[in-house]
Amino acid sequence: MTFSSLGLSDQLVAATLEHDYVAPTPIQTAAIPAILAGSDVRACAQTGSGKTAAFVLPLLARYQAYRLELSTCDIDLRPKQKAVQTLILVPTRELAVQVAETIRKLAKRLPELPKLVCVYGGVSINPQMMALRGGADIVVATPGRLLDLIDQRALKINAVRSLVLDEADRLFDLGFSAELNRILEILPRQRQNLFFSATFSAAVQAFSELLLQQPVRIEIEATPVVAPDIWQRAIEVDEAARTSVLRHLIKERGWQRVLVFVATQYAAEHVATKLKRAGIKAEAFHGNFEQGKRNQVISDIKASRIQVVVATDLAARGIDIAQLPAVVNYDLPRSSTDYTHRIGRTGRAGERGEAVSFITADFAAHFQRIEKQLKLNIEREQIAGFEPKDKISVAEINLVAADGGGIKGKRKSKKDKLREAAALAAKE
Ligand code: AMP
Repeated sequence: MTFSSLGLSDQLVAATLEHDYVAPTPIQTAAIPAILAGSDVRACAQTGSGKTAAFVLPLLARYQAYRLELSTCDIDLRPKQKAVQTLILVPTRELAVQVAETIRKLAKRLPELPKLVCVYGGVSINPQMMALRGGADIVVATPGRLLDLIDQRALKINAVRSLVLDEADRLFDLGFSAELNRILEILPRQRQNLFFSATFSAAVQAFSELLLQQPVRIEIEATPVVAPDIWQRAIEVDEAARTSVLRHLIKERGWQRVLVFVATQYAAEHVATKLKRAGIKAEAFHGNFEQGKRNQVISDIKASRIQVVVATDLAARGIDIAQLPAVVNYDLPRSSTDYTHRIGRTGRAGERGEAVSFITADFAAHFQRIEKQLKLNIEREQIAGFEPKDKISVAEINLVAADGGGIKGKRKSKKDKLREAAALAAKE
C-alpha cells in the first residue's frame, strides 16, 4: 500500500516521503479514503498509530480541491473573508501544538498554503485574536479558548465543513462536555465529522452517536502500531535508591534525552532538583507551569539544551519528541492505559525505544496488574550495586494479583496498611 494509491495529491505524497512515512499505517489506510469521500469517521485509535496524519492528509487534500474549485468560480461568489473550513478540537495545549506542527509540515508543498491558527488557553488571548484577523482556513483549538474567541467575535465557525474531535475520551475526562455541546450548537448542520478516541466509555459513545452520521468505523489495535520497537524493562529497586539508579542508567545507557514520569507535581520538582544537583541538566514539567514555561521545557529538550524532563502524566499524551531514546517510570502509572501512553513517547516513528519501570516493593503488585491487563510478562531485573533491600515475596505478589487486583475484597493486614500509608506519603 502506498500513499498515492489512497488518492492523495502528488504534493501531499511528496510531503509524506520527506518525513520518512514510507507506507501508510493501518489507520491511515482505512481513514484516508473515507475522509476523502466526505464520510463521517469513528476511529478507535491510540496515540502512536499515526492518527494525526490519518485526518490531516485527507483534510489537506480536501482543502486543495476546494481552493481549486474557488479559483475557477466567479470572483463575486468567493467568500469575502476566509471562513474557518476545518475545526480540530483537542483536549490539551500540547496536543494542539503537536497537531498544528503536523499540519504545517504536511502542507509545506501545497501550491496555496492554508491559513492555520492554533488557539488554546493559559496564554494571552490577544495574539490569538490578531492571528485570526481576516479569518483562517484551519483552526486547531481547545474548547474553552475557542468559545472565548467566539464570544469576543474573533472568529466564526458557522461555515465549518469538517470537524475533528481528537482524543475525544480525554476531552470528556477533562470535563469539556458542556463546551462541546455549546460548540455543536453553533456549528452548521451540514458538515463532515471525524471522531478519534482511544477508548469509548458510555459518555463518549453516546456523544459519538449524537455527532456522527453513518460513520465509517475503524478499530485499530490498542497497542500503537508505529512504535512496536520498545524494549520494556522492569527494574526492582528500593524507593529511596531510585534517583541513584536513574543517574546510573542515564550514564550507562548513554541516553541523550530521557523523559521521566512521576506521580505528582511535587515529585517532578523534587526529582529534577536532585538531578540538577548531581550535575544533570534536568527540568520539571507539569500542569502548574505557565504555558510559556511548558513550551520552553519541550523546546529545550528537543534542542538538547536539557537532557532530562521529569514530568507528570500531563506529558504522557500529545507530546512528540523525535529521537527520545528512553522513558522512565520513576513512579508507576495509575493504569494500563496511562502506561501505554507513557511508553508510547519513546520509539516514535519506527525508532527504537527503551521504557524502564522502577518496581518498588510497595508497587510490585500494582505493576503485575498492569502487565496482566496488557498481557505482558516483563522480566524483573536488578542493577548490580543497587539490589533492593525491601523485598516482597513472589507468593505474596501472586496472592494479591490473583483476586483480580489489589487488596480489594480482603481485609487489609497491618502490613498492607503500612504500605498504603508509605505509598501515600511518597506521593505527597
Ligand atoms: P500519532 O499517532 O499521530 O501521534 O503519530 C505518531 C508518530 O508517527 C508521529 O511521530 C508521526 O510523525 C509518525 N507517523 C505518522 N504516520 C506515519 C507513517 N505512515 N510512517 C511512519 N511514521 C508515521
